[in-house]
Amino acid sequence: METQIYNIALLAAIDERLDEMLEDYGDLPEQIKSIEIKLNEKKLLVEETESILNEIKNFVSQAKLTLVEMKDKEEKLSQQQFKVRNNKEFDAITNEIAHIKQEHEKLYDRLRTEGVKQENLMNILEGQQKDVDAVQKELEEKYDEAKRLSGDQNEELTFLQNKRLKTIDLIKSKFIKDYERIRSMHRDAAVTIRKSSCTGCFSTVPAQVIVEVRNHPNQTFYCENCGRVLLPDDLILEDI
Ligand SMILES: [Zn+2]
Repeated sequence: METQIYNIALLAAIDERLDEMLEDYGDLPEQIKSIEIKLNEKKLLVEETESILNEIKNFVSQAKLTLVEMKDKEEKLSQQQFKVRNNKEFDAITNEIAHIKQEHEKLYDRLRTEGVKQENLMNILEGQQKDVDAVQKELEEKYDEAKRLSGDQNEELTFLQNKRLKTIDLIKSKFIKDYERIRSMHRDAAVTIRKSSCTGCFSTVPAQVIVEVRNHPNQTFYCENCGRVLLPDDLILEDI
């Protein structure tokens, strides 16, 4: 599996090439870009809902276990009540049972509420996934339009567009969001650090950042001056 920084570098290279190819097609490249941004926003919503659903799922499975444990404990305490030696012990156990029952009821109620929440979220997720599909289709239509216009460059365009879709899927949507933001300002959104400088704006990159970029290929670091994604100088991209 390629590192995140590799995938971002690849995406940036693909986008630069696509920008070049679509340059003469009026506002089509801008239209494509805005749909790409919209698509990522829709994907982010799906990811958010999925993450909340996951939390609920974990809570539900843990709560179910806890409920069983509470029942067991209550049962054991009830048995013990037959073996008490005095009223004081009897009352203590009675109190404990009452407490467990109360906690059991509370947890049971919460479990039911979370169940309803889960069902609502599943419906929301379904709608959000449909939105993603719709925007994806919108994007494909624009890609097709570009292909129709591109004549003898058609094959390369198809290759790059497919490659872009595949690469996007390998990068977390929240990073894509940052990336798209940078791309709206700079044509080259990701640039190599060379001779301790950002090759986008030529300002010096602090030594500490250079080390971090090199050591954490699954994180993203940005130039403090221009905001572009910084790529390590030893990163070698496949030919596109
Ligand atoms: Zn810079």
